[in-house]
Amino acid sequence: MEPIATPPHGTGLVVIQPLKKRRCAECRTGPLALLVLEEGAPRCLDCADLGHLVFLPRGDAALTRRSRESSALSAVVVRFNRRRSRYERQGILVEEEALALAEERCLADAEARQRRRVRDARRREAEDLRFTDAFEREIRRLFPGCPADRARAVAAHAATRGSGRVGRSAAGRALSEAAVTAAVRASARHTDTPYDQLLMSGVPRHEARRRIAATVEERLREWRDEHTPGA
Ligand SMILES: [Zn+2]
Repeated sequence: MEPIATPPHGTGLVVIQPLKKRRCAECRTGPLALLVLEEGAPRCLDCADLGHLVFLPRGDAALTRRSRESSALSAVVVRFNRRRSRYERQGILVEEEALALAEERCLADAEARQRRRVRDARRREAEDLRFTDAFEREIRRLFPGCPADRARAVAAHAATRGSGRVGRSAAGRALSEAAVTAAVRASARHTDTPYDQLLMSGVPRHEARRRIAATVEERLREWRDEHTPGA
């Protein structure tokens, strides 16, 4: 029988996926898918008292670590890479109960992460709503004549652009008088003037703004006045 290369020491129990057909030196079963070298001779897992372990292929670091931690007996499975002249890890052998427990824990982690994502999303939604409310209140304070549905629409639009996704200080800046006025002015520009049609018909932006500026400022003046008829 050709000698089997000796796997590295210091890794605990090592089980080999042989490249060649091997039989158990003790019970003669074979060819063996997995073997243990004892004093240079191959043993099947049953003869090596590892027959009750199950194979977990490499690739899931958390599952591997947890399985080993809760397994009283475990082994590293290696295969010799001829091209690289070295043994390479293929996975581990662990107790089936340990693997099941590790799978449950990893699943619980995944579920916990999912629950946290849902909580985070709800919190962001709530923040968006609070921001929208605050923005709307500022519009109503600065422009008491602005129709309620318009104020709400402008605030909701501002919220989709920032709020929960920006920091507290940025949200504060977004609520400054200048920012709120800019948002209301933009709404008046697009909704109460032919600005968009001008742009679509090829009028340069600055020329379009010049043409509608008076209408926009007139509308803002109306909205600043609490007693605008029809508002
Ligand atoms: Zn055997």
